[in-house]
Amino acid sequence: MGFTLMTPLVAKTIVILTMVAWYIIRFRHAHRSRRTPITHSHRDRREQLLLIISLCGLGAVPFIYIVTGFPWFADYPFRPAQAWLGLICAIGTVVLFRLTHKALGRNWSVSLDLRENHRLVAEGIYRYVRHPMYSAFWLWAVAQALLLPNWIAGPAGLVGFGILYFGRISREEQMMLKQFGAEYRDYMDKTSRIIPKIY
Ligand code: SAH
Repeated sequence: MGFTLMTPLVAKTIVILTMVAWYIIRFRHAHRSRRTPITHSHRDRREQLLLIISLCGLGAVPFIYIVTGFPWFADYPFRPAQAWLGLICAIGTVVLFRLTHKALGRNWSVSLDLRENHRLVAEGIYRYVRHPMYSAFWLWAVAQALLLPNWIAGPAGLVGFGILYFGRISREEQMMLKQFGAEYRDYMDKTSRIIPKIY
């Protein structure tokens, strides 16, 4: 049923479109939040390195694969049903990104920064999970794994973002606890990290 519509080229295009959508959502935001000064930055060497690793896994590796076919030796047969699931995840990613950026507003930042008049956001999508933007990145990594029939380029996003996520999450929560104290502790009691009610 309609499976012939889904070809490797279509699947690759979906991965590129996800990158473009993310960039558009993010760019508009980065531009707006630029005017709100950063008061505390917990950005250090380690943070920079984690960002680069993640960018490689979700960006550079799949991009090179899509453009050049490298690493071709890790290819496996394309399965349309798998790619359809990937499309659903990719759509979910973009929707979730949009919701998180909307809710975070000027409190958004690419790294561990606190801005002037930083407010704890606990509404919108943040009512259900503490890190919906990271949920979106996980979903993106799953989409990439499903859409690219390659044992290296596919899972690269899961590995790259996984390293960023596990390397950052406790530090981010520590930073928020230090900044917001009881308010954040209270918020932690009411929410899960990534998946509502589960994790
Ligand atoms: N971890 C969040 C946000 C990622 S962006 C998510 O996955 O949705 C990282 C920046 O967001 C950090 O600099 C931090 O200051 C800010 N931040 C994280 N959670 C926040 C919240 N609930 N309210 C306000 N700012 C938050």
